[in-house]
Order: sequence, then structure tokens, then C-alpha cells
Amino acid sequence: MPGMENALKSLLENNARWSADVTQRDAEFFSRLVRQQRPEYLWIGCSDARVPANDIVGLLPGELFVHRNVANVVTHSDVNCQSVLQYAVDVLKVKHVIVVGHYGCGGVQLALEGPRSGGVADFWLGHVRDVIGRHRDLIAQIPDTRARLDLVVELNSLEQALNVCHSATLQAAWERGQKLSVHAWAYDLKDGRVRTLGVSVRQPDDLKGLRDRVLSRVSAEHPSISAP
Ligand SMILES: [Zn+2]
Repeated sequence: MPGMENALKSLLENNARWSADVTQRDAEFFSRLVRQQRPEYLWIGCSDARVPANDIVGLLPGELFVHRNVANVVTHSDVNCQSVLQYAVDVLKVKHVIVVGHYGCGGVQLALEGPRSGGVADFWLGHVRDVIGRHRDLIAQIPDTRARLDLVVELNSLEQALNVCHSATLQAAWERGQKLSVHAWAYDLKDGRVRTLGVSVRQPDDLKGLRDRVLSRVSAEHPSISAP
């Protein structure tokens, strides 16, 4: 398929240009990176191509440790995500773990509205359906489809961030006094801006009442929701 070869050729040309540009700006850039990476942040985001982690927060290669999957899901049984988390916390000693959902997320939308694919994606999105089930009453109060999806995106970021907090890795790190915070964000494709969701957990005590606090705040911002 010559068309495909041409497409990849342009990627390789872009790569050569990028490498030359970076080296021209900073001759030691790659040799420094080869020696070590010292990211202070772990980004757990969606695989969506419109959500490029480093670009969004203006960080260079080496400055952001990244894990992405469909709908930024964190489960205790996902050895991939949990391995990234453990390596980031125990070895790289990142100071912040940020779970970043995004409005208009196709994975979250599929979990919310269907249809089911009949494949392995259903299995994966079951984790998002769990979030929807937990907050069913709240979600049902919003008649507008787009506003409902926005809310579920926020709730999903919140719940996945809580899963990070309750992971064995985080609990052990806090237990031994490691300085480490967990955050939940939502990224807006429409203007490229990040919205923080009032989740910033620095120690296990911060978890007390956190879900309720975030739910009250989120509810107050959605006019269709009556006070919980
Ligand atoms: Zn997404």
C-alpha cells in the first residue's frame, strides 16, 4: 500500500526535523534525557488523540510520566496501570498523580448511552458503568444529553482518582511519609483548558468526606440538579 508508506514517510521526516530542531535549541537535550528521567508528575489520561498530555501542560519529554487508556480508568486489577503507578511512585518518586478525563469522551459516552460493542470494549467500559451506577440518581436529574455526559466525565475522573488513592501503592507511600498528592481534572476539547474538580488528596485523612464535598460542588454547578 504505497499510500500508507507515504503517510509513514511523512512521520519519519517530521521526526528527523524535530530531532534536529531540539538539538539546535539545546545541544545536550538528548544526552541529558538518556542519563535520566525525573518527572514530578504522573498523568493518567484517556487515549483520545485530541488529549496530548505533554502539550496540554507545557512539559518537555522527561518531565511527565504518562499512562493512557480508554476513558482514563484506574482499577485495582489492571496490572498495566498499577505497574505504571508503582514505578512512578516507588522508583521515580513523582510528587503528583493527576487523573485527567475530558469532556466529549467517546469511551464515557459509549458507557453512558451505548450501544454495546459486544466485544472486549464492553468489558473495559464496565468500569465506567460502575461509576454511572454509583451516581445513577444524580445523573438522572439532568435531562440535557450533553450536560449529562459532562457530569459523568467529571464523576469518572473523581472515582478513578479515588481508586488511585485507595491503591496499595499510594497507601504504602503515604504510610511511609512520602510526599505525594492525587488530583482529578477534566480537560475541555473546546478551548484546550483544564478544569480542576476540587480533588487534591495529600494524605489519607483528606479522603474523609471528599466524595460528598465534590458531589455537592458539582451539583451546585449543574442547574438541573436539586440539592443532595
Ligand atoms: Zn476519552
